[in-house]
Amino acid sequence: MSETTLQTQSVAIHVRKVLKRYGSSDKPALNEVSLEVPPGELLAVLGPSGSGKTTMLNVLAGLEQVEAGHVLFGDEDVTALQPEQRGVGVVFQSSMLYPHLSLRDSISFAPRIAKVPKQEISRRIEEVTNWLNIGHLLGRRPGEVSGGERQRAAIAKALVTQPRLLLMDEPFSAVDAQLRRQLRTELVKLHRRIGTTTIFVTHDQEEAMAIADRVAVMRDGELVQVGTPLELYRSPVNSWLADFVSIQPLNHFDAHVDEADRLVLLDGTLTVEGARLPRGSRVAVGVRPEHITMRPEPAATTWRILTQEMLGSVVKYVVRDTNGHEITTVTTADEMLAPDQPVELRVDRGRCMVFDAQTGKAFASASAQEASGVS
Ligand code: ADP
Ligand code: MG
Repeated sequence: MSETTLQTQSVAIHVRKVLKRYGSSDKPALNEVSLEVPPGELLAVLGPSGSGKTTMLNVLAGLEQVEAGHVLFGDEDVTALQPEQRGVGVVFQSSMLYPHLSLRDSISFAPRIAKVPKQEISRRIEEVTNWLNIGHLLGRRPGEVSGGERQRAAIAKALVTQPRLLLMDEPFSAVDAQLRRQLRTELVKLHRRIGTTTIFVTHDQEEAMAIADRVAVMRDGELVQVGTPLELYRSPVNSWLADFVSIQPLNHFDAHVDEADRLVLLDGTLTVEGARLPRGSRVAVGVRPEHITMRPEPAATTWRILTQEMLGSVVKYVVRDTNGHEITTVTTADEMLAPDQPVELRVDRGRCMVFDAQTGKAFASASAQEASGVS
């Protein structure tokens, strides 16, 4: 951050039991949501459409009033403040650039209103647009640049106000997939440089997991889990979340625990040693395709490869047992196994996510149980 002359700020965000309902609807868009964001964090808010992400962002921006609860920036309660009093920069899905103005005039609009000296504005614009590689486009209008360039300009417009919080609502969703990946990498670099607390809304789990320090997952107006991408990947709080944050769909099994303390999946064609659960328990088990170890075994009689799909660095296989059950595995592409190849499968207990069969809630992981002395 040493070469930065922009006055960057980062503030802690505290969302305390925020309740938000629209009109006469009795179903809250935010149901007493609480969230803590440390200064300088890049937090992704991830959830399906209609889960309350935009509402959350608008509440932080001051664009929506809350019915109950509080929003604090650092020690300051901003719940009653107008958007322009909050010191936030906002980037929406479609950029809020003025179609008849040059990018330079759009970007400088807010600081000019705020009576920032002209020279200072020029200096900020130069710095920010260099970071974003749009310095050469400032004379053009939004209609004369690409979608990706427009979103870069929208980010520049938010940053020249020197916000203490940067809010982004699906900023890259209108950009094609390849460019979206490039933009998200640049966003992470930009965030490293400026260190401004950033909240990034997306419905794309890959995008959220790729960019964020932590991810807050929303569903039906509630926060389901907040954690680092690795925490969400390793220890999802429930079965729904495990699926939602996974790039490769999970294998799901109904299982029971037998007398030998094994997890018995699929009528016994797959078993996992060391369940460490009460005998006879019925549970739901989720296993990631990359966590099923598969090796060719000519003498194997239960499992055979049904299909294989080359996905670049990995190969995805569907394998089928003698009863017709299918599971998906993913291995590194060191060798390709052919359809019909008999294989042996192995799943380690540490790789199983075990959920309550009724509620889908996660049980403590095997290692956590070991640590707490449960056996
Ligand atoms: P997301 O951004 O995750 O798709 P939203 O925050 O836009 O979700 O919406 C959350 C819920 O609030 C949805 O049920 C949506 O239909 C409702 N909602 C959002 N905006 C309004 C509005 N202006 N008026 C009435 N209902 C709204
Ligand atoms: Mg939205």
